[in-house]
Amino acid sequence: MAPRLADIGAATCCKLALSRMLAATSGETTGALSEASALRQRSGVVRAYAAPAPGANFELTELHWGALLRDEVEVAVEACGVCHSDLAMWRDAWSRKRFPLVAGHEVVGRVVALGKDAHGLEIGQRVGIGWYRRSCLVCSACRCGDLQHCIALQRLMIDGYGGFAERVRCHWAWALPLPGTLDPACAGSLFCAGITAYAPIARHVHPSHRVGVVGIGGIGHLAVRLLRAWGCEVVAIVRDEDQAYAAQRLGAHRSVLSGAQADDLRRVGALDLLLIATSANLPWPSLMGMLAPQGRLHLLAMGCEAIPLVPAELIPRALTVSSSPLGRPDEVLQMLSFCARHGIQPQVERLPMSRINEAFAMLESGDVRYRLMLTPDIA
Ligand SMILES: [Zn+2]
Ligand SMILES: [Zn+2]
Repeated sequence: MAPRLADIGAATCCKLALSRMLAATSGETTGALSEASALRQRSGVVRAYAAPAPGANFELTELHWGALLRDEVEVAVEACGVCHSDLAMWRDAWSRKRFPLVAGHEVVGRVVALGKDAHGLEIGQRVGIGWYRRSCLVCSACRCGDLQHCIALQRLMIDGYGGFAERVRCHWAWALPLPGTLDPACAGSLFCAGITAYAPIARHVHPSHRVGVVGIGGIGHLAVRLLRAWGCEVVAIVRDEDQAYAAQRLGAHRSVLSGAQADDLRRVGALDLLLIATSANLPWPSLMGMLAPQGRLHLLAMGCEAIPLVPAELIPRALTVSSSPLGRPDEVLQMLSFCARHGIQPQVERLPMSRINEAFAMLESGDVRYRLMLTPDIA
């Protein structure tokens, strides 16, 4: 975790304050920016890939976003992952009507400017930014540390501009330092898929638990890696033999086909937790039947159909159905150090950002294992 201002010496503090002042007032830049990009930064201009309408191609566009706010941080993007939420926004599946759309919310990059009231960060520091861009820090959710439930929450690509750009901006509280041992070229997915998988594990799972993962994609492949390192017995519930092989290579102890008979599913042993990391249609009664007494089915993917819940099946075994969106900033930091300690990284394919339209087509066709990362090649 980055040192807090109160924790560092006066000399460093002065240097830090000076570097912040310079960055905030004169647009100081680091080697993270090209000369042309630095010039645009000083003029409050950013180059980004924007889609003008739902489903339309992304085009390189210049946006004028004016001066950096006092509590904001500006980050030069080094890599940004492509996620199914980007696809949903691009198709306008959630009717957000946010066009032109600059998508991307799995960002890793270097801090290139800090507002006067941006705390705990330094110019040149490597950080990650995920789905959220601002929380108020004063509502009751924020005061409890649940910044992701803030009443005035802003999302990076809904209320601002996303990471398929040369630079991004957010409130300092959502720019989180990346440990040096994590590879910046692929760590971006930890800020969305990674924390989505990690939060329910940290909140509900003991190392002695047997945990099932349904859906071995962007979230699921990280869930398997995290659970294995957490010490659990990991059961992958997969759609075919190929996926079973892939899940075992990721660290699953066992795999079972989701289309198997209920009795065969039950034979893998009662699960303390079942993580649903897919939007596919699933055999819900059979999956519920896999849970141990007091077991929990936890939803992580938004696109699922309605789930039939039968109280007479839940109550006698005290089953819980729960869900969670991403996680708190302190949980993200915990997850990053856990991943750094255990050598857990997302498995990614990389493309230059200029091939963003190809990347979206690949994700649409399901032709990705397991995350696509785009690297800016913006002159
Ligand atoms: Zn995402
Ligand atoms: Zn708040």
